[in-house]
Amino acid sequence: MTEKRVRLSLGAATDIIMSGLTAYERRHTKKEGSYVETGGELWGYVRRLPSGERLYYVEQATVSVFARRDHESIAHSPDETAIKRKVMQRLRPELTLLGDFHTHPYDDLPDVKSAAGWGYSPGDVEYWKGDDQVWEDTGNRPLFLILALCPLKRQIREAQQENFYVNILRFEIGHFRLWLHGVAGHVTNGQRRLSTTTHSTVHMDPLPLNLRNQPGSRLEERPPVSPKA
Ligand SMILES: [Zn+2]
Repeated sequence: MTEKRVRLSLGAATDIIMSGLTAYERRHTKKEGSYVETGGELWGYVRRLPSGERLYYVEQATVSVFARRDHESIAHSPDETAIKRKVMQRLRPELTLLGDFHTHPYDDLPDVKSAAGWGYSPGDVEYWKGDDQVWEDTGNRPLFLILALCPLKRQIREAQQENFYVNILRFEIGHFRLWLHGVAGHVTNGQRRLSTTTHSTVHMDPLPLNLRNQPGSRLEERPPVSPKA
């Protein structure tokens, strides 16, 4: 089995994280717990490295405009991906569709742990394996990313990004903990298959972001201060 390496550009990493945190913080404009999943497409290129590994370089991530989102799922629109493919051929013809990403938001850390929320769900498997277009576009080698995230109740320690598993990065931003999981698809004996959560052949490279979190930095907005008379 070919070893795979997943590397994100600064822009792609920023867009995926921004999308996940924004969709989570939506709860502050609605009732508590009304955060939603979000997701979109991954664009870039695949190269064979001298080491023999297959490098998936994600140059750009685009956030879905028309996807139906709710608390526990996101349904991408195939029409949207088709439109974006055409636009991308004009804007960035050097990039091809690599796959998609989506988020797994959770209430808190015990929730993430009990659900192993950094992994993929039966629904994810069904959706990914059934997305004929992405398998066709990628020559049967799609890449999928899951960003799991939850707020932490306790003061956050100073933390740097680390490989939770080889295929999962773990890091903290403000009062959130996040896990970014790379899943690679391949075809064996005519069957579409996915890399597993444990014992994966996918290696996630560190994100090119300064993710050395400082204690005490929360992301929530504070109420506006009324100007003094
Ligand atoms: Zn999922």
